[in-house]
Amino acid sequence: MPGLTVAKFGGTSVADYSAMQRCANIIINNPATKVVVVSASSGVTNKLVALTQATTTDEQSRLLIEQIAEIQYQILNKLGNPSDVVAQINAVLSHIKVLVERLVLSRSKAVMDELLSQGELCSSICFAAVLRNKGASANAFDVRQVLRTDSHHGRAEPQIALIAQLAEMHLMPLITSQVIVTQGFIGADAQGATTTLGRGGSDYSAALLAEALRAEAVEIWTDVAGIYTTDPRLAPNAKPIPEISFNEAAEMATFGAKVLHPATILPAVRQKIQVFVGSSWAPEKGGTWIRHQVSDEPVYRAVAVRRDQTLLNLHSLQMLHAQGFLAETFATLAKHKISVDLITTSEVNVSLTLDKTGSDSSGQGLLSEALLQELSQHCRVRVEDGLALVAVIGNKIASTAGVCRRVFEVLEPHNVRMICQGASPHNLCVLVAETEAAEVIRALHENLFEL
Ligand code: ADP
Ligand code: ASP
Ligand code: MG
Repeated sequence: MPGLTVAKFGGTSVADYSAMQRCANIIINNPATKVVVVSASSGVTNKLVALTQATTTDEQSRLLIEQIAEIQYQILNKLGNPSDVVAQINAVLSHIKVLVERLVLSRSKAVMDELLSQGELCSSICFAAVLRNKGASANAFDVRQVLRTDSHHGRAEPQIALIAQLAEMHLMPLITSQVIVTQGFIGADAQGATTTLGRGGSDYSAALLAEALRAEAVEIWTDVAGIYTTDPRLAPNAKPIPEISFNEAAEMATFGAKVLHPATILPAVRQKIQVFVGSSWAPEKGGTWIRHQVSDEPVYRAVAVRRDQTLLNLHSLQMLHAQGFLAETFATLAKHKISVDLITTSEVNVSLTLDKTGSDSSGQGLLSEALLQELSQHCRVRVEDGLALVAVIGNKIASTAGVCRRVFEVLEPHNVRMICQGASPHNLCVLVAETEAAEVIRALHENLFEL
């Protein structure tokens, strides 16, 4: 739809009534915004994840459900408790209780996904009511009617062509006359079972819907005024980046800049949709535009960190002058739905990293016993945890003299466990102890951006 904007509001932006008010003003001020994608209110998904854990006691579950209800009721109270909205929220809260009981009987991943999806269902119902309260014509819409995925619960794969067809059929006719408030993070498979896209997946949902509806722009409204040269929580001197290319933004997201879910850029690139990242607390501050082409492509753009990294070291004498070892290893990892991030090889060793963060909506790790056993059949496997991947992101990194000196001169006091550079012109990555990551980020940021 020409001129359409899809706007996504993250957890802190829809945390409570006053946060929702600010977001409603942003929507009302831009009549191009017809599709609104919301995350669960801040903290709700974490509580739902806790409810899926086998170790959570009945008493803890009761308290968690009470806390989730409290977050919704505070919003409803401020709205004057409209009976239809209260009834819808009560229905969701009752369903949460049923799902928690169901999980006691069977720890099914499908039930976990359905439980995790209830946070976004609540926030979309409440937020549509906030918009109506301000005089907008707005309704909540169940995204599971259009956001079709495969059945890989916890980290489902969207089915792009089907999403486009379903959006054309069910969503397009609605947005000509009203603002649709829908859920990020969740989808449904062909049988109608609820799926989730992995933690932080609401950004991705917004981009997928924008692609399906052929929107002109996606706006990601969050708690920072754009994408910064590094996480402003880690380095107070981090600066917002007014404009960044798709490639650089994708690298930043992939290497841990939490402000964007790593897959968000893909649909935008496919349809050449501009992405804006801004703060719902201070929209007047502007933010970052992510575009196909940008006027400035500096060597150093940002530094990012991805924590909780696992390094797999594989050793096999069969590797020596042999063929097919890597193919076999990658086939095994692919079978277990694991994508390899970084890789270095020597004659009889291969080291590779797996990204565990946000791997699965319910927080389950990637390294299963079954995978380790299968790998052990053809090599010796060593697993190292407690690592963080720090990435310097920019342009022409692999073809600019002096980059390594500037990066490594500040890394002198630190042990660098692995280095990856050269495959992409956009990054140089080092693996360091997780405990040293913040210090490494600050030192790099200072050397590359503050001198
Ligand atoms: P939301 O709930 O809106 O999706 P997130 O918490 O997922 O928000 O993402 C926003 C957070 O991302 C910021 O508060 C910030 O701490 C973090 N962040 C990490 N790297 C960056 C970066 N390079 N620029 C801006 N924010 C970043
Ligand atoms: N609510 C989900 C999460 O906390 C999805 C999102 O916020 O993007 O991970
Ligand atoms: Mg997020």
